[in-house]
Amino acid sequence: MTASDPLSNPYESLGVRRRINAAGALTRLGGAVMAHEVMEAMAAASRASVDIGELQDAASTRIAEATGAEAGLVTTGAAAALTLAAAASIARWDVARMAALPHAEGFPRDILIPRTHRTGYAHALAASGARLVDIGHNDRGTGAGVRGLEAWEIETALTPSVVAMAFSVNAISIVDLPTAIAVCRTNGIPLIVDAAAQLPPKENLRRFIAMGVDLVAFSGGKALGGPQASGILAGRRDLVASALLQQLDMDVAPETWVPPRLVDRANLRGVPHHGIGRGFKAGKEEIVGLLTALDRFVKADDAADNAALEARLKAIAAVLAGLDVTLVPAEQTGRVPVLEITVADALALSARLQRGDPPVHLSERHAARGVLTLDPQVLLPEHDAPLAAALAAVLTAP
Ligand SMILES: *Cc1c(COP(=O)(O)O)cnc(C)c1O
Repeated sequence: MTASDPLSNPYESLGVRRRINAAGALTRLGGAVMAHEVMEAMAAASRASVDIGELQDAASTRIAEATGAEAGLVTTGAAAALTLAAAASIARWDVARMAALPHAEGFPRDILIPRTHRTGYAHALAASGARLVDIGHNDRGTGAGVRGLEAWEIETALTPSVVAMAFSVNAISIVDLPTAIAVCRTNGIPLIVDAAAQLPPKENLRRFIAMGVDLVAFSGGKALGGPQASGILAGRRDLVASALLQQLDMDVAPETWVPPRLVDRANLRGVPHHGIGRGFKAGKEEIVGLLTALDRFVKADDAADNAALEARLKAIAAVLAGLDVTLVPAEQTGRVPVLEITVADALALSARLQRGDPPVHLSERHAARGVLTLDPQVLLPEHDAPLAAALAAVLTAP
């Protein structure tokens, strides 16, 4: 294959430029870069007919092993997993409620969400038909105070219309997670955790479930290295089963329908129609690709991978002598090592890098404090040298 072969570079024939991605597995830049093993598994999966319900049952077993959860579902991303988690919390086994969503005005549909966790992804919860009810204060986030979410703030909001509580986990918010778990447990309310980007470390695959969370969402197309349009919903078996029912193709004859093993038909008073998740079906390629990537991720040697990334970052930093560059090790970031480059006008320089040839992306997550972050999570090794050259040229230009 040559560089202009559409199989080796489908983007060239489309006139779309490849980018040097040192910003992380961002969805808008295409997410993860898949390993050959994952690509090959997807290609092989595409050349067969299988029962998707049966395939999701097998996926559930694999995800349960990897996460410690009772069950799991391959979704089309963490955002889809959140929509399905909310829909499952509202409808449970009730096929009439599944049929009604997203119109949930007639039955309990409130999801509590701490004010500190109101990310842009809360839209994915609301898309189910849920009504989001903000609770708590944002004192830590705004710097106005030191207090986080307290048990009484959750308890006060627990009315009969509450079906779940949502929690967006990160290094700061995890402090409040045990409180949320305890109150939700005591009151029989499912706790849904958005952990989309909390991998690595791989311990987090099991961590939130082990703490007592009912449902957790992970991205498959970020650090897991799966297909970009994949994700995981893991957790309580009854809720995962409801989510699966609302995602499957349900154009079935009740007389011949064989439900997935996850679904106990005795709990259903009828056969559901296409649910709220029908529009984000996971295909056989995504399911097999995600499971292959999950297996690789679980078996990977994080310490060795991070050491290799650190060595690459040091070589890049050596080319940037004269700039204010700091290597932040994985132990400190909680994920992969990064280079923090302190510059005078972070966003202006980032814009110049993105407009360059080749276009270069650094993470802007700390731009507000004058830092561009070189995140090597999905940086291809062959891009190290051109990246260093582009950075040296743009960042040292007068
Ligand atoms: C990326 C992300 C999502 C969405 O994940 P997808 O897999 O792209 O759907 C949700 N929540 C958070 C916090 C994320 O970082």
